Amino acid sequence: VPIDDRDGWIWFDGEFVPWREARVHVLTHALHYASSVFEGERMYNGQIFKLTEHTNRLFRSAEVLDFQIPFTVAQINDACKETCARNGLTDAYVRPIAFRGSEQVSVSAQQTRTRVAIAVWDWPSYFDPETKAKGIRLCWAPYKRPSPETAPTEAKAAGLYMIGTINRHHAEARGYADAMLLDWRGFVAEATGANVFFVRDGRLITPPADGAILNGITRQTVLEMLAARGLEVEVRHIRPEELAGFSECFLCGTAAEITPVSEIGDDRFTPGEISLSLMDEYSRLVRGQI
Ligand code: PMP
Repeated sequence: VPIDDRDGWIWFDGEFVPWREARVHVLTHALHYASSVFEGERMYNGQIFKLTEHTNRLFRSAEVLDFQIPFTVAQINDACKETCARNGLTDAYVRPIAFRGSEQVSVSAQQTRTRVAIAVWDWPSYFDPETKAKGIRLCWAPYKRPSPETAPTEAKAAGLYMIGTINRHHAEARGYADAMLLDWRGFVAEATGANVFFVRDGRLITPPADGAILNGITRQTVLEMLAARGLEVEVRHIRPEELAGFSECFLCGTAAEITPVSEIGDDRFTPGEISLSLMDEYSRLVRGQI
C-alpha cells in the first residue's frame, strides 16, 4: 500500500488532517529547490528517545537553510507526542519536516511561508531483523559526502539525500543492503542514513563530526555508552585501506539503531562481543530499561 494511502492523522501547520489529505501543491518551493529539512525519531514504549535533541537539530537545520519555523521547540515536541497518541501508537517512527511552501517559484524564496508537518508510522526494523545480527553487506558508494564548503552538511536537509538515494539504489541494484560513503577527502564517512563505528583490538574507531558526516544523535548516544563502559574510542579520520585490519563494524542511527556490518566492498567483519552487546544495551536504553 502506498504510504500516502493510509488511515490516520498527520499534524500539518498546527492542525491534525486526515492522512490522505495532507497534500501540497506541485509548485511547492521545497520540491523545486530542496528547501526542506527533516528529522527521524523513534518512540519506544510511549517515549520518543532524545526528542528535544531531535527537535533542536530540526531548528538548527532550518536556520542553516535560512528559514524560520513558526513554532517553538516545545510546540514541536508536544506535536510529535500528540501525533503518536492521535494515531494510537506507542512504538513508532516519527518524521517531522519543515519546508518552504508554494507562494513563489524562484531561487529566492523570500515570499514563501515555512510549513511544518509531522507524520508517524509503525516501522519495526530498518534492516531485515533476521540478517541484522549476522551483519549487513555494504558496497562502496559512487558519490561522496560533499565538503561543508560545498553543501550545508551540518543540516539534515532533504537536498543532501539526493546523493543518498543514488548511492542506496546503486547498492540495492547489486544486492547490497546499503552503501558506505567516503568524504570529499577520501576518508570513510557514513552510510546513506547511519553513522559507522569499527573495532580493532577492543578499541572503537569512528570518524569525527568535522563536517563530513551528519553528527547522529545515535552516534552521540553510542559515544556516551562507550564512555560509561570505560571503553577507549578513537574519534579520527579513517582511510579505507585501514578497514582490512578492523574486526567488527556496525552502523548506528535512529532508524538503523545498531546494525552490525559483515562486509564493505572487499573487507569482511564478524559481528562480535562489542557490536552485539551494544545492540542489546541500546535496545534496553531506548526503552527506558537502563
Ligand atoms: N547520517 C545520515 C546521513 C542520516 O540520514 C542519519 C539518520 N538521521 C544518521 C547519520 C544518523 O543520525 P541519527 O542517529 O541522529 O538518527
